[in-house]
Amino acid sequence: MNIVYQSTRGGEKGLTASQAILKGLAGDGGLFMPNQIPQLELSMSELAGKTYQETAYEVMRLFLTDFTEEELKACIDGAYDGKFDTEVIAPLVKADGAYYLELFHGNTIAFKDMALSILPYFMTTAAKKNHLDKEIVILTATSGDTGKAAMAGFADVKGTRIIVFYPRDGVSRVQKLQMVTQKGDNTAVVAIDGNFDDAQTGVKQIFADKEFAREMEEGGFVFSSANSINIGRLVPQIVYYVYAYGQLLAGGEIADGEKINVTVPTGNFGNILAAYFAKKMGVPIDKLICASNDNKVLYDFFCTGTYDKKRDFLLTISPSMDILISSNLERLIYLSTGCDPEETAGLMAELAEKGEYTVTDEMKAQMADFLGGFATQQEDLDAIRQVFQDTGYVMDTHTGVASAVYRKYKTESGDEKKTVIASTASPYKFAGSVMEAIGEGALLEDEFEVIERLRRVSGVSVPQAVEEIRTAPVRHTRVCSRADMKKTVKEILGL
Ligand SMILES: *Cc1c(COP(=O)(O)O)cnc(C)c1O
Repeated sequence: MNIVYQSTRGGEKGLTASQAILKGLAGDGGLFMPNQIPQLELSMSELAGKTYQETAYEVMRLFLTDFTEEELKACIDGAYDGKFDTEVIAPLVKADGAYYLELFHGNTIAFKDMALSILPYFMTTAAKKNHLDKEIVILTATSGDTGKAAMAGFADVKGTRIIVFYPRDGVSRVQKLQMVTQKGDNTAVVAIDGNFDDAQTGVKQIFADKEFAREMEEGGFVFSSANSINIGRLVPQIVYYVYAYGQLLAGGEIADGEKINVTVPTGNFGNILAAYFAKKMGVPIDKLICASNDNKVLYDFFCTGTYDKKRDFLLTISPSMDILISSNLERLIYLSTGCDPEETAGLMAELAEKGEYTVTDEMKAQMADFLGGFATQQEDLDAIRQVFQDTGYVMDTHTGVASAVYRKYKTESGDEKKTVIASTASPYKFAGSVMEAIGEGALLEDEFEVIERLRRVSGVSVPQAVEEIRTAPVRHTRVCSRADMKKTVKEILGL
């Protein structure tokens, strides 16, 4: 079966997977969607015996139908190898009555590695397939984790350059150090004096700038995206939900066909959307619990049906979820309209013009699998401390939000279904806040001293990614204003 891709806003259709991956965002500002969500061809009990790489192949081949078996397997083998510090790639850890799906065992110790380890392989394979003769410029807005993971994947990859914009005051110390010390001749990192939404909106505007695209082309460049708006990010993220169910089944934790819930700490709505795709493909998932921090725009949306971004942007201890415009929600909106591009485009125009939109009751009913929840910073810290005290398991501040929301939901609903919690970052990436939660020495000036204390308390060894930044020289010091993002891109490319 051949899957083709179309824009959620109707401006483009009939693209192959490789073309959609190369483009990243559609020319009309929409996101690419497959013309149908394929069904898994193997049963869950057949999948339960597969390795992560084998599972990846079974899922990805259904979406990337213009990749040959050989091409796809080469991408998978290149991505999911010794870069990960565990052979199982995404281990499932049982603690506090839930199953923590640890997605942070890759290069940069956040879940972004799950997709960004393979995206460069997809991109270079797609470039070859489509006889692209231009240099691909990956333009990326980051709330802290995507930028580093994308650069780790694309550093010194021939035929590509990567430019990352991050909010100057909106990332953790480890996140910042990871980015400004990034190696690779084709990498550029820019701090902007704005928040993540500013960075993402600026990048989307550059994508939509036809005049600029022409200039780029004359210069021998073409833009693409490593953000979760790229379908090449979404597809690899489906894999670990299929894999997690298989692992539960293989370990005898659930019966075949038993429904589970999934709780995901959410920002741009990419990770949880992947879980929804897994459900649509046939994984027995019941509820998708969307956990927000104090920037609870999605919680309000799932409660009321109104998406309202007109509110203060709050900087929290879970910075990778500090987002008010969750881009991937557009894909769910599109599905809930019955794939109606006009209606979707209309709602997105309302969001851009008025800062809000309201979905119909029918659309809301289509999204009934989703539940919103949120946790304040105090609830986040309390959850980290409680789980640590009860079980010895240490989680990061993003996973803490999901954990708090899971506990609240379980108490309030009485729903006893087994639950997988997406564990999205290593606690070492947010060591200061984690130590504050656990109650030891958070206020030390030296980040590496905090890290050493965390090691002693948790007994978890310090990941290689943290060792690397301890002594690495700072290579990127560029700063720009929100208004100057385009000018900065030109400077970097020498246009
Ligand atoms: C990006 C990120 C999130 C949010 O994921 P989305 O796909 O944007 O919803 C949560 N936690 C961490 C650690 C992240 O890096």
